[in-house]
Amino acid sequence: MSRTFPLEKIRNIGIIAHIDAGKTTATEMILYHTGRTYKIGSVDEGTAVMDWMEQEKERGITITSAATTCHWREHCINIIDTPGHVDFTAEVERSLRVLDGGVVIFDGVAGVEAQSEAVWRQADKYHVARICFVNKMDRIGADFYHTVTMISERLRCKALPIQLPLGSEKDFRGIINLVENKVIAFPDESNSASIEEGEALLTKHRQALIGNLAELDEQIMLAYLNGQDVSASQIKTAIRRLTISNRAIPVLCGSALRDKGIELLLDAIVDYLPSPLDIPPISATHPSSGEKVLRLASDDDPFSALAFKTVFDPFMGRLVYLRVYSGSVKAGAQVLNSTIDKKERLGKLYVMHADHREEIDHAETGSIVATVGLKMTSTGDTLCEPRRPVLFEAIRFAEPVLSMAVEPKSKVDQDKLDDSLAKLAMEDPTFKVYHDKETGQTLISGMGELHLEVLMERIFREYGIRVNAGRPQVAYKETITIPVESEGRFIRQSGGRGQYGHVRLRIEPGERGSGFEFRDQIRGGAIPKEFIPSVEVGVKSALQSGGLAGYPIVDVKVTLYDGSFHEVDSSDVAFRMAAFMAMRDGVGKAKPVILEPIMEVEITTPNQFLGDIIGDLNSRRAHIEGVESRDEVSTIRCLVPLAETFGFAGDLRSLSQGRASHTMCFHRYEELPQDLAEQIAARVGRTR
Ligand code: GDP
Repeated sequence: MSRTFPLEKIRNIGIIAHIDAGKTTATEMILYHTGRTYKIGSVDEGTAVMDWMEQEKERGITITSAATTCHWREHCINIIDTPGHVDFTAEVERSLRVLDGGVVIFDGVAGVEAQSEAVWRQADKYHVARICFVNKMDRIGADFYHTVTMISERLRCKALPIQLPLGSEKDFRGIINLVENKVIAFPDESNSASIEEGEALLTKHRQALIGNLAELDEQIMLAYLNGQDVSASQIKTAIRRLTISNRAIPVLCGSALRDKGIELLLDAIVDYLPSPLDIPPISATHPSSGEKVLRLASDDDPFSALAFKTVFDPFMGRLVYLRVYSGSVKAGAQVLNSTIDKKERLGKLYVMHADHREEIDHAETGSIVATVGLKMTSTGDTLCEPRRPVLFEAIRFAEPVLSMAVEPKSKVDQDKLDDSLAKLAMEDPTFKVYHDKETGQTLISGMGELHLEVLMERIFREYGIRVNAGRPQVAYKETITIPVESEGRFIRQSGGRGQYGHVRLRIEPGERGSGFEFRDQIRGGAIPKEFIPSVEVGVKSALQSGGLAGYPIVDVKVTLYDGSFHEVDSSDVAFRMAAFMAMRDGVGKAKPVILEPIMEVEITTPNQFLGDIIGDLNSRRAHIEGVESRDEVSTIRCLVPLAETFGFAGDLRSLSQGRASHTMCFHRYEELPQDLAEQIAARVGRTR
């Protein structure tokens, strides 16, 4: 099968930005310039092409990662939309996983904000090569140089300005292209004064760029030391090398809203961001032997792909987005889902454009496609050629931190509600639904207030169900603080066949966030192999509810190191019970504590409200990590327990006459102070 695009001409990129930095506007402009959309959607009017979900339009935020394909200079650019709001970090993680490169957009006035930092760290984790676009150069207060300094300092990277703005704010008149050695004055600004000013800046800063490159790149250094002129193409090649190896980050500037700098941005995507050939072969394991296997970005390698997104499309049904890592696959082919070890048949395959979908007969290496027909595959699963199975590392998602009881306003909608919640949970791994058997309630949980609110709105809009929601409840957890050894015996002798299970466990605290780990160290057959899984099941069921307040127990390592069995009486049930008893007893002795989710909060406010806001934060058990002031505005960075954040948005609004803004994202679980832990335990004890 011949390729539609040579591999080196494919760019799989994401546009990553803090909410409101201009990601949607920039995407619109990219689609406009690449000729796919003829009418420019405007976020302010709510007609943006990428924001295809109803309520995204209303809120003006982009939640789902729709993938969009467009073309520029004979290259195929797949844009995987990443959400701007950190409540949706799972969405960001999953899209970063399948990207090769990213365009990070900053608001030239606000500079680097907390969310951008969080996403930057995630991009580091996945080695995503990046270029930065300092947007909103036309806005009052825009400061390119300050933003570049913030990128270097706060994001700890080598920021390499390859363009400079000619003037800023109302006076933003052009872009100085240091690489091409050109002053590009905007059409009505191309007077001789502008050009002269631009050329002076060009001479000064181009030398600085070459000097910077010489420090990082040997080939430029040699040319530089020999006093040779360094050509634009040599500079481009060096920047491409440095960007792909993550040693430097080119920084561009412009104004998406005024359509300035977008074509140069598209050029930079093609010139500097990696193609699938530039990234290392993806490493996987053989699903049964566990051996390491590499898959090359080549159509000749066996087919492998990662499902990175599941959506329920009202017209097409269940749509799964795939990134093909190696080989190619035809529509209708049978593939193996190696994550769940089930074969499935692909239906039709599509390339998604912002305003239409294009049916294709096969998907090739490096491509991003959507497929219908997969029933069992969910986000994070590996699909591969059945005879050449591989398994990619699963995408890890954070556990939800907030839960809420929900019920339909009208009882007749109960089944419809259950059905729609199940579909949403399948799309979004950080959204969970469960039924509390004791109270009969349906509980939903997610990553923050906004996350749950958005999902409730979807239930109403997409499924037409009106819902009553209870107060949000914090998802506390329990853990242990010291290692213990514990023994459990479940031995019953009651005539006939008895029961015999006996285990010895070592129970130790694990690292924060590590969840649960089980190790089998039985030597010499003290417990036959066939009963070991039952021991693990018993351990897990004991972890479902802790002894202090009934919250799930996390971050523990359990090692089964000894025990005994009986030829006739031993059974799965007996070992499950023995393990359960050993855990209950052991956890009680291991100094258990309650953990609470802590949020990372960043507030930006005019200085006059700073004192009142800090006062309010102090009453919320906040730990203030730093306050930075610039001109008339300060930024407070702090950690606040989730339980204390309810109503914060409203209070902040009234304390600052609506002028302060804030962002909030999950940081980690920490031990709850003793007095509060006792209150919670007492409260739970009363209701039990
Ligand atoms: P997103 O949340 O990152 O997707 O940001 P949007 O694209 O929705 O933009 C947020 C707001 O900033 C909107 O009101 C845009 O009109 C505005 N905006 C975007 N780009 C620019 C720009 O270059 N200059 C100015 N002045 N405003 C912009």
